[in-house]
Amino acid sequence: RAGLVAIVGRPNVGKSTLLNALLEQKVSITSKKPQTTRHRILGILTEGPVQAVFVDTPGLHIEEQRAINRFMNRAASSALADVEMVIFVVEGTHWTEDDEMVLTKIRQAQKVPVVLAINKVDQVKDKAELLPHIQKLAADFSFERVMPISASKGEHVDELRQFVIDSLPECEHF
Ligand code: GDP
Ligand code: MG
Repeated sequence: RAGLVAIVGRPNVGKSTLLNALLEQKVSITSKKPQTTRHRILGILTEGPVQAVFVDTPGLHIEEQRAINRFMNRAASSALADVEMVIFVVEGTHWTEDDEMVLTKIRQAQKVPVVLAINKVDQVKDKAELLPHIQKLAADFSFERVMPISASKGEHVDELRQFVIDSLPECEHF
């Protein structure tokens, strides 16, 4: 099994921290250099015969999004449609307009399975407060899976990694 997995989310939600946690001691390569015009390879997870290539989708960067026109929006969503899976990272503590913008892009990329990773749950003092937040998001979009995690504390990161590995399609060529 192999495939591209896009990690998306507004700045500061913990995407880089999550990537490092997912790749922990399982890194084949990591590179911050541009690899293709549509995706930037961030790292490769190799687990037996399975390879997950984590990518960045340049058109999804919020900083660029502010000035982006409709055409660019479409380019970003088609880049998302090129991946096997999307990990949408949000914070358990708050939801902003920027998260909403990222979700809009994801919504435009149809048929891509999306895992909602609700990060920084270690900062959520009252877990009951998290529930309405999760319910609101889950009511808004049909996520493949909703996973509360803590990337920095490593909570539920193993489950997320396993879910990604299990969900990648079988393929001969990659
Ligand atoms: P990115 O901009 O989405 O790549 O976010 P970063 O990975 O750079 O993380 C932004 C900040 O959030 C950093 O200070 C991280 O240490 C912190 N952070 C990331 N994950 C967690 C988490 O699970 N819990 C807590 N408390 N902080 C986190
Ligand atoms: Mg980052």
